[in-house]
Amino acid sequence: MKILMITSEAFPFVKTGGLADAVSALAIALHKCGHDVRIVLPRYYTIRRDSLELLNAPLKINIGNKVYSTSIYKTTMPGTTNRTDKIGLPVYFIDYEPAFGRDGVYGSKTESDFRDNPFRFSILCNGVFELCKKINWYPDIMHAHDWASALVPVLLKFYKRKEQFSQVSSVLTIHNLGYQGVYSKENYPITGMKWTEFYKAGFEDWDNINFLKAGLVSADVLTTVSPTYAQEIQTAAYGFRMDPIIRNRKSDVYGILNGVNIDVWNPMNDNKITANYSVKTMDKKAENKAELQKRMGLKIDSTIPVVGIITRLTDQKGVSELFGPTYGCVYNMCVDFKMQFIVLGSGEKWCEDELRNLNSKLPNMGVYIGYDDELSHLIEAGSDFYLMPSKYEPCGLNQMYSLMYGTLPIVRRTGGLADTVEQYNEKTGEGTGFMLNDLTPRSIYDTVGWAMYAWYNKPEHIKKMKIAGMKKNFSWEMSAKKYEDVYKIAQNKVKE
Ligand code: ADP
Repeated sequence: MKILMITSEAFPFVKTGGLADAVSALAIALHKCGHDVRIVLPRYYTIRRDSLELLNAPLKINIGNKVYSTSIYKTTMPGTTNRTDKIGLPVYFIDYEPAFGRDGVYGSKTESDFRDNPFRFSILCNGVFELCKKINWYPDIMHAHDWASALVPVLLKFYKRKEQFSQVSSVLTIHNLGYQGVYSKENYPITGMKWTEFYKAGFEDWDNINFLKAGLVSADVLTTVSPTYAQEIQTAAYGFRMDPIIRNRKSDVYGILNGVNIDVWNPMNDNKITANYSVKTMDKKAENKAELQKRMGLKIDSTIPVVGIITRLTDQKGVSELFGPTYGCVYNMCVDFKMQFIVLGSGEKWCEDELRNLNSKLPNMGVYIGYDDELSHLIEAGSDFYLMPSKYEPCGLNQMYSLMYGTLPIVRRTGGLADTVEQYNEKTGEGTGFMLNDLTPRSIYDTVGWAMYAWYNKPEHIKKMKIAGMKKNFSWEMSAKKYEDVYKIAQNKVKE
């Protein structure tokens, strides 16, 4: 199949979150299966032109009665030309200074969400069709990701499905329904859509325009990044106001779990940790624990359980139930349980302040505020438990890393967490982690307490669970096969 991924970010070129990893990893996995996969994204200011190849002649993009003269750059996805017989995965960049020649992907420090984002991502989405014409390559599937490329399925459905694009199907993947691209209605003309389609295409949102909503209405098939999240987003509690639309389209919604990049996250060959290990050499995990305790200024003692957490400090991750002043559960947990608690995170200022405050009071707590990739690997390898009490979690990566690293996840039963962790059975020792249902400080406290009880009283169960977790397979190959099936479904819809 010929598949074009349209995205606002792709690793290693530009990344603000898990979306960048997921898009590139999926594209690479599909490429390995033999598909002709290509990626298109904006050339942001931070992506250096001299590392790319300029395709000759400008790319003219017509929107309304205006013509925007852009350039196209191209490169090959790193790691996709390793074999001599293999053609690399092409990545195209739409270069247009007024839209992308500035610092920031969606916003900057001074303007958290750029006011002209409708214009910026309209250049990307309208540009996609011109790009295909220019390179004379027409995909079977246009696969858009999140709100920033959600205009592609809309344009395809309403205007572009003629001539060369008549057989093209669209897939829209929701990586996080919390971000929808909602802007003033005045921006509507810049999308390239006519007012006659305003309601039909699903843009209307309380007198604003909503890019994701239009994509949800228009794409041939919708996917999201875990089976449970695919169900949850059909409910009012998790639907961010989109649940009625998603319910109406429920036969077109598929949940496919993200995979893990095992070249980067694998305890057997992770070069960011102190000692590599596998299920067979699990004793070596202890060396990582000792190094982690030392690095975080905690007592080096293999008998004390270490609970780790690596996160954006934002409401989605349950941080107020953990660290909220006076009501968060961490203070009591650290006082009541004989454990060590390690936090790596950055984000909301109140939370960073509160973490420093807790850290100064609790000798068994270690805190690092900031973003530190290397430390995140050591935390996964050196901790005994990993805490992730998310409010909602479309897929989540750290619980999968934890399982692979023999670190038992303690998670809320939601989204991808519910799909990847199996509840501990205290009779048999089966399961791979500990799950809580309600997101309250009390229930986090109780579940961590339960895990601590198992650590001190059922060491044979802890070992059994670690082994069960490490044997799990979260490869992208499996997920790529499921996307293949979804693409076939999307193609059949267009043929119908
Ligand atoms: P989300 O995309 O919602 O932030 P995920 O669990 O899907 O959550 O992915 C988050 C990724 O970012 C993980 O790989 C995690 O290790 C990493 N990460 C988050 N915060 C930090 C940090 N402060 N330092 C290092 N890595 C971090």
